[in-house]
Amino acid sequence: MGWFSKRKKKTEAPPAVKEDIWVKCAGCGAHIYKTEWEKNIQVCPKCNYHGRLTCRERQHLTIDPETFKELAGDVTTSDPLGFVDGKDGSYSDKAEATKKKTGLKEAVLVGHGRLNGLHVAIAIMDFRFFGGSLASGTGQRILVGAQYALKHKLPYIIFSASGGARMQEGMVSLMQMAKTCAGVAQLREAGLPYISVLTDPTTGGVSASFAMVGDINIAEPGAIIGFAGRRVIEQTIKQKLPDGFQKAEYLLEHGFIDRIIDRKDMKDELHRMLLYWQR
Ligand SMILES: [Zn+2]
Repeated sequence: MGWFSKRKKKTEAPPAVKEDIWVKCAGCGAHIYKTEWEKNIQVCPKCNYHGRLTCRERQHLTIDPETFKELAGDVTTSDPLGFVDGKDGSYSDKAEATKKKTGLKEAVLVGHGRLNGLHVAIAIMDFRFFGGSLASGTGQRILVGAQYALKHKLPYIIFSASGGARMQEGMVSLMQMAKTCAGVAQLREAGLPYISVLTDPTTGGVSASFAMVGDINIAEPGAIIGFAGRRVIEQTIKQKLPDGFQKAEYLLEHGFIDRIIDRKDMKDELHRMLLYWQR
């Protein structure tokens, strides 16, 4: 029988594409079962790499169930420069698309709630929203959190995750560095604790402002923390930087941060620190 007159063999429908059941660890490259990865709060069981969490995941890990109340949830992006990037189009359009994709209105979630029963104010950055960049809305939300803590005499905890200032908002975004620092400085004057937790990555304008001025500065293991990136520094100073430079462990060794705490212990350790303050 000629090829063309051959009856087509009934082909089976391709199996439905299963949801990816593996997660590839960005730390060691190992493939981990997704269920195991999630059970282990997105920490690699082989190399202890701490994956990036969304602000809501972090909130659920840190704040007691059903106690979280969001603050400044309507504060969102503004476009003071009418910024248009030749390649990416307008900032406004990109912001709308990002909001739709992430379900967030800004790169930080701010609110108050209970941490093992203790009332705290909290801000949690989300790297998915413009790389967790600091912009007018982000700065305003962080300030509202500080003011809430001040008014109600609460400790303030900020989880940072950021690539730096949001360049699309130009100078207005840089001003947020001073604004957020002024906000947390008021807590110090009032004798209220401000705990800064640096998660992967905390860089640029955020590392150069509120993230480094906590009464206690904590990091998650392996987090990249620094101002300019490794390559930029190496090209500027024409020198090779040491291994592990800008990793949380290196910063701890050189006295830039106070502690490194594993994700699974973070909530209880924060609680323990706050109990010292309460005494
Ligand atoms: Zn790993």
